[in-house]
Amino acid sequence: MRIDIITLFPEMCDTVLSESIIGRARKKGIVELECHQLRDYAFDKHRRVDDSTYGGGMGMLMMAEPIALCFEDICRRLEKRPHFIYMSPKGKVLTQQRVRELSKLENIVLLCGHYEGVDQRVLDEFVDEEISVGDYVLTGGELPALILTDSVCRMIPGVLSDDLCFEDESHYSGLLEYPQYTKPSEWRGKSVPDVLLSGHHANIEKWRREHSLIETARLRPDMLENAELSEKEKSLLSDMGLFNK
Ligand code: SAM
Repeated sequence: MRIDIITLFPEMCDTVLSESIIGRARKKGIVELECHQLRDYAFDKHRRVDDSTYGGGMGMLMMAEPIALCFEDICRRLEKRPHFIYMSPKGKVLTQQRVRELSKLENIVLLCGHYEGVDQRVLDEFVDEEISVGDYVLTGGELPALILTDSVCRMIPGVLSDDLCFEDESHYSGLLEYPQYTKPSEWRGKSVPDVLLSGHHANIEKWRREHSLIETARLRPDMLENAELSEKEKSLLSDMGLFNK
């Protein structure tokens, strides 16, 4: 998997992507990540990449040509056309399901907007999809691109120590994860549930499934609409006042 990020702030992206789990995966060559300075594709001596908006209005807009030149250069180097995503508050909100699908692609290019955004013509010409990280507006697409890169890279085999690491996690199976505890078993008068100390794997699995359901019903009841629940599980939640049968 290779992700190319087109940005006005390559150092900002590179710093984050050199740390921790993703940084190690890069060093091992499991994922290839490259950040491209959009100004290197500007065509005037001031390396200008933005201009005022036709029709008036506040703020500047990123021009089409430097973005086109940068994307075409990446395509030439890769000798193929990668999937091109514009990070945008107008896009479809990113989900774990979309993250999983994207992690199956070989090459992705992410475009980070800034200022008022990007000239529509370059989006129409090259971009395959627009993705948002939530229904709010940020100053730039760098944080969204980092979120997408992190979430996609951790799905690549070998990036996490064990694939089970993400299979149990919130959203992967359409539920939230069960509560977790570490040492000490007693903390400020609060104990870890006995079953988790019992070493009885079947009982631990049962407890985790039940508490995954309870956590989802409590914090994200909307997610239960699409969850596959047994009659017993529905009764458990309904007895707790967390589900209408
Ligand atoms: N004028 C644009 C609008 O109203 O849709 C917002 C532009 S925003 C200030 C600047 C850039 O930040 C965008 O071009 C986009 O790349 C990025 N951005 C802001 N919020 C985002 C979000 N929720 N998800 C993804 N990208 C976002």
